[in-house]
Amino acid sequence: MSNMGKIKGIAASDGIAIAPVYLLTEPDLSFEKVAVNDVDHEVNRLEQAIVQATSEITTIRDIAKQTLGQEEAQVFEAHLLVVQDPELMDQVKTLIKDEKMNAEAALKQVSDMFVAMFAAMEDNPYMQERAADIKDVSERVLAALLGVKLPSPATIAEEVIVIAYDLTPSDTAQLNKDYVKAFVTNIGGRTSHSAIMARSLEIPAIVGTKTIVDSVEDGQVIIVDALEGQVILNPTQAEIEEYQAKASEYQALRQEWAKLVSAPSVTKDGHRVELAANIGTPKDVTGVLENGADGIGLYRTEFLYMDSVDFPSEDDQFQAYKTVLESMGDKGVVVRTMDIGGDKKLPYLPLPEELNPFLGYRAIRISLDRQDMFKTQLRALLRASVYGNLRIMFPMIATLSEFRKAKQLLLDIKAELVAEGVEVSDSVQVGIMIEIPAAAVLAHQFAKEVDFFSIGTNDLIQYTMAADRMNERVSYLYQPYNPSILTLIKHVIDSSHAEGKWTGMCGEMAGDQTAVPLLLGLGLDEFSMSATSVLKTRSLIAKLNLTDMQRLAEKAVNDCQTVEEVQALVAEAVAKAQA
Ligand code: PEP
Ligand code: MG
Repeated sequence: MSNMGKIKGIAASDGIAIAPVYLLTEPDLSFEKVAVNDVDHEVNRLEQAIVQATSEITTIRDIAKQTLGQEEAQVFEAHLLVVQDPELMDQVKTLIKDEKMNAEAALKQVSDMFVAMFAAMEDNPYMQERAADIKDVSERVLAALLGVKLPSPATIAEEVIVIAYDLTPSDTAQLNKDYVKAFVTNIGGRTSHSAIMARSLEIPAIVGTKTIVDSVEDGQVIIVDALEGQVILNPTQAEIEEYQAKASEYQALRQEWAKLVSAPSVTKDGHRVELAANIGTPKDVTGVLENGADGIGLYRTEFLYMDSVDFPSEDDQFQAYKTVLESMGDKGVVVRTMDIGGDKKLPYLPLPEELNPFLGYRAIRISLDRQDMFKTQLRALLRASVYGNLRIMFPMIATLSEFRKAKQLLLDIKAELVAEGVEVSDSVQVGIMIEIPAAAVLAHQFAKEVDFFSIGTNDLIQYTMAADRMNERVSYLYQPYNPSILTLIKHVIDSSHAEGKWTGMCGEMAGDQTAVPLLLGLGLDEFSMSATSVLKTRSLIAKLNLTDMQRLAEKAVNDCQTVEEVQALVAEAVAKAQA
């Protein structure tokens, strides 16, 4: 059903797009289990469905190889092995013949059995992952039997706007920005990981619209204004022209910012800060360099694990870290050890369902528990340390003892490598993310032991406000300028400076144009954001005086009670600076 009018959502990645809708929705794969008389016909149907599924997977694999690369295509190679596995399909045929069951029901019964069997092999990640493959492939064969089309983001080969209820980070990774001009989802917030990935892929995105999926039809042309966070459903010719003009204006602004690509990140009164970028994979380094970032303030290594069909080996990780470090030369690169859990899952590391995944088994909690995988990562990191300016950071630290344990493991691994005769850098800084309020409150204690802090506001805000970052119903509580948050940030920065250490910020707040003046004034040393926000932030900073921003921040922390008051104060200060 098409609606007239506009739909609002949360602007998650800047830009404007006008294109037809590509609905990426879960298809209906329900069927009845029935008895059949003509079993040969049923077997024949199954065989035809297998042929169709094989050809679909082959197409997806070829496209994925071309547009996304060999690594991303690997999962489809595995799918081809499954669909052509005679053992699996012979069992389905036997069931059809012996039980006179329809192909759909027989397929489901056999695949459920295999999936359950493999999924139960808890300490065999390879088998676990086979379970995911079998599930995926049997769904495709089932869809072919039912004559239902399965959407596959990797095969999109014309300009579209992807509309989905939600996009997982792995769906997002499959989007090819040459064709996917924007995406819009029902759920999610500015800091959900698909939103973060959209920014690094430079795909305009609006999330958390609640209703977009039910408001559009496949093929319908819509306008996505991801600067304002609104979708125009049935644009008139005049609206299309208006937005084409707006898109070129935005383009012109970007060209203005682009002039600052080799400029230093410095305020009007000469105070220098570091404007760094966040990355998810070594490929993102291109965007970091193109946008003239001063370094990498957050390398989310969990994507290395998520892009892989099994735990990435020490050598695979070493190569990835080395590539990033070498491409950045002597610029700082903060590599965060893996942060799986929350909304980031691994097919080969099955974790029990949790009521509150964001408060659960996640990040350093898994690393300290599963030391085998943590040690592999630390070895890879330390081996890569000689290729650049490496800084290692632990995520989700709540207590000093967690930090001490992680640091001790790092020291042990270093000693082990040195004993093996492997060269390891002696100047690797070791820091933590401040994203749990407990750590923020005790920052003065942590500051004595760490080399640096990086404030993860995406989580720090969700934990301080007790508002799930994935839940659009409470997204109004994602309040970066709430005086409570500013007070925590101030304490963290002041504590680090008192011990001669530095503080960065790698949560989305660091690139928020209203937050930047405040953070400058609070003394933040390093701002790490989506690469695409670096130049506009550099342009903003160049217009501001540090001393004015210090006064602004002091007022915000001491005198303001609400976000609105802080916003008004910042708007006034920025307007004055630009006058
Ligand atoms: C954060 O929490 O602010 C952060 C940068 O980490 P992530 O978004 O990966 O949880
Ligand atoms: Mg976090």
